[in-house]
Amino acid sequence: MNIKKNFIARNETFVCGNCTKSVEQIKYGGSYRNHCPHCLYSKHVDGDVPGDRLSDCGGLMKPIGVFTRRSGEYVVVHKCEQCGFERYNRIAGDDDFELLTRISTTPIFSKVRQK
Ligand SMILES: [Zn+2]
Ligand SMILES: [Zn+2]
Repeated sequence: MNIKKNFIARNETFVCGNCTKSVEQIKYGGSYRNHCPHCLYSKHVDGDVPGDRLSDCGGLMKPIGVFTRRSGEYVVVHKCEQCGFERYNRIAGDDDFELLTRISTTPIFSKVRQK
């Protein structure tokens, strides 16, 4: 069995901090709900490990791009509006696909960090 370490699956009902719609548990296409399927925003609640809930930032994480992994899996890039933290998240089966394709036409990787 292929056990992914450093990954804590969460599948909870929550209210989106961006569009205020309530988000149900995933019914299909994944078991890990970490962003809103309506507007694709996420929330910065995790530390280094997805699902650990160790961050006290709490900022909204904006979907800044979408790309496809070699395995064919779609990944959405989230960036925290508060602290700039970036994370890649798998999309869920009930995500707004039109919205996904719309943001995938924008540059996916944030520009080289300016210091
Ligand atoms: Zn939302
Ligand atoms: Zn943050």
